[in-house]
Amino acid sequence: MKSYGQLFIGGRWVAPIHNGRFDTIDPASEEVIASVAAATAEDIDIAVKAARKAFDEGPWPRMRGAERAAVLRRIGKGIRDRLQALAEIEVRDNGKPLPEALWDLGDAAGCFEFYAGLAEKFDDSAETPVALPDARFSSVARKEPVGVAGAVIPWNFPMLMAAWKVAPALAAGCTMVLKPSELTPLTALELADIAANADLPPGVLNVVTGLGKDAGAPLSEHPGIDKLAFTGSVPTGSRIMQAAARDIKNVSLELGGKSPFIVFDDSEIDAAVEWIMFGIFWNQGEVCSATSRVLVQRGIYDRLLERLEEETRKISIGNGLKDGVLLGPLASKGQFDKVREAVERGVSEGARLVAGGTRPAHLDKGYFLEPAIFADVPVDSWIWNEEIFGPVVCIRPFDDEAEAVRSANDSRFGLAAAVMSRDTARCERVARALRAGIVWINCSQPTFTEAPWGGYKQSGIGRELGEWGLNNYLETKQITRYESGEPWGWYIK
Ligand code: NAD
Repeated sequence: MKSYGQLFIGGRWVAPIHNGRFDTIDPASEEVIASVAAATAEDIDIAVKAARKAFDEGPWPRMRGAERAAVLRRIGKGIRDRLQALAEIEVRDNGKPLPEALWDLGDAAGCFEFYAGLAEKFDDSAETPVALPDARFSSVARKEPVGVAGAVIPWNFPMLMAAWKVAPALAAGCTMVLKPSELTPLTALELADIAANADLPPGVLNVVTGLGKDAGAPLSEHPGIDKLAFTGSVPTGSRIMQAAARDIKNVSLELGGKSPFIVFDDSEIDAAVEWIMFGIFWNQGEVCSATSRVLVQRGIYDRLLERLEEETRKISIGNGLKDGVLLGPLASKGQFDKVREAVERGVSEGARLVAGGTRPAHLDKGYFLEPAIFADVPVDSWIWNEEIFGPVVCIRPFDDEAEAVRSANDSRFGLAAAVMSRDTARCERVARALRAGIVWINCSQPTFTEAPWGGYKQSGIGRELGEWGLNNYLETKQITRYESGEPWGWYIK
């Protein structure tokens, strides 16, 4: 039976060794929702050993891909069966509006179904013949699961980020220890329950809740982990990479961004306004790929700003469970304080605050913030260059294409970028010139499980989703055979 106060290890719900707990808080009401188990290094060790045993001795990596697919499909169905309840838990834990939570949960189920499809095809595609120049030999390249994977995930899309890692890892035949963010641990525990009900063998998926330093760090440092998949901030990603370096662990990192959106002056203003808003206000701007730096061609700069301000002021802010709400609270007090500080910093740096950036007058509880628009943002300012991770858009004018591309690429990040113009040749040209892992043309943010996801530069290493996401959890082995009946004849003539 699932309990938020326990860890899911080796197919069973168990209390943490030191009986530690932490509270998870509803950011709309500031009330405690649940007291959650706080794992420490000893629990992590037990979880990694359970995953190791399931990998080395259990059925999961040895099953046919189609058998693993059947379990993944049952997990997908388990999510769909509880979609509304899970979405409501996600809203209370994270703050996002209910329609967005429903969307995330549907995508999470879809992710398990997609990787079930790849698992079904896995056995036929696992071995590829390798052409050799010597006819006495034959060779195949064979894909095999990488082993025990550790996953550490953030709080902005709790269930979806879990699905992006658990589904491909399980499809590949890996076993996993998953550590959700301490700010939003609840749906990961629900996922453990769903997996258990889907007859996932014990030890294949272990879910350990806990703090970054007490549970995340020991997981990333554990020698029993073969692969570490991390999504979160650049400083933590860097720490995880250092820990992985000691044992030469395979790591994939999905980190932060400060993604540009270039709007040329032949764009339809309302379409541009809507995609700019979706690019930065969706999920309260707590989106790694948020297009938070907008470059608008001078010819439409003033008109666009006017319409953007008008539409932004209409966004309905409130508890994500209320009908019609399109902007919930920030996920935590810490995040609220960080974003408020960033707004103050922007003002002191000389950017023009056109709208928002303060607590809405009608909400006296909860971590709510009016969506903010900064115009004429200085190019060397902190807010133009650093990730704010909140509903704050920074805007600057530009004159020509070369300048726009240069400004867009002038960043240590390279996760995503967007370009808008009626001139399709120009969009294609700019898309190729942008140094980012994801480029949207005439839109911003729509994300598909089938397409690769990940960043250039400090935004990460590796790709999730699609077939690329499966490869994250696979090793490649060559098997080379000497097929000639003739002796080798090197020492023995
Ligand atoms: P974070 O780095 O603070 O925490 C992420 C996870 O790491 C949490 O589970 C946390 O407990 C854990 N952690 C913290 N310290 C650790 C340590 N020393 N060792 C191991 N684990 C540790 O990030 P966050 O605040 O939860 O998430 C926000 C960041 O995530 C943003 O920068 C955002 O851009 C990024 N993000 C990226 C993507 C992507 O796909 N590229 C998606 C979502 C979020």
